[in-house]
Amino acid sequence: MTNKRLQGKVAIVTGAGRGIGRATAKLFAQEGAKVVINYSKSEKEASSLAEEIKKAGGDALLVKADVSKADEVKKMVKRTIEKFGRIDILVNNAGILPPATFLDSTEEMWDQTMDINLKGSYLCAKEIAPIMLRQKKGKIVNMASVCGLAQRSALGNTPYVASKAGVIGLTRSLAVNLGPTINVNAVAPGVIDTDMVAFFSADRKNVIIEESPLRRIGKPEEIASAVLFLASDESDFITGEVITVSGGRGMR
Ligand code: NAD
Repeated sequence: MTNKRLQGKVAIVTGAGRGIGRATAKLFAQEGAKVVINYSKSEKEASSLAEEIKKAGGDALLVKADVSKADEVKKMVKRTIEKFGRIDILVNNAGILPPATFLDSTEEMWDQTMDINLKGSYLCAKEIAPIMLRQKKGKIVNMASVCGLAQRSALGNTPYVASKAGVIGLTRSLAVNLGPTINVNAVAPGVIDTDMVAFFSADRKNVIIEESPLRRIGKPEEIASAVLFLASDESDFITGEVITVSGGRGMR
């Protein structure tokens, strides 16, 4: 008998080389899942995570793929099926945050942000949902952001905000389209201490901390535990929801 929450499950975590994706893949492996560690550029970090998981007795497959490219997503899914034979969980975590407000943003930034943050989640779900439907169960967890809901001081980076609002719409639409077989939910993190927000000034971080009832920035592991809940059987009656994990910042 085991009380591991993902025992025997196969999970793909996109953008898992570092930050929230890395913490999620690591936690999933600790909970008994076989983990596909997707990365696009963070090869060194991704392979060190695979080593770490294997050393601890877990199973991990490293797959390089740009989630915004349909052919690379297809290959990632094919390799996963060849190695593990099934896919139970998809975490659409890969994302970018160009430090651009509306007036300094460019068309290229807009396209790249939409391609990775929004289209990437769509492409992965499109490729993997038919497999989950055949298996008669599946969990998709998308990474949104408090800025995709409404949080005044988080709304500055226009392409990013629009992409994360899109991720929330995608989550709800997939929940409707893929029920009753697949649960599709999103996590909306507040500011979490990863490389993505390294460019935030101390002043900006202070405003965020002031706005948060819990008076701090979050840790990647604190997002991973919410993703784990949504990926596990414990959330079987939850779909189309967005769980905010932000220390109370932007509560609705
Ligand atoms: P991060 O920059 O550390 O990690 C993002 C990962 O995605 C990186 O490993 C990166 O290489 C990967 N990635 C980027 N483009 C990719 C592509 N085309 N294909 C595959 N992988 C790709 O940042 P993070 O904070 O860990 O972000 C993870 C997710 O959480 C993102 O979707 C982000 O928008 C979201 N998020 C983060 C915060 C925060 O404050 N850190 C807040 C809200 C939401």
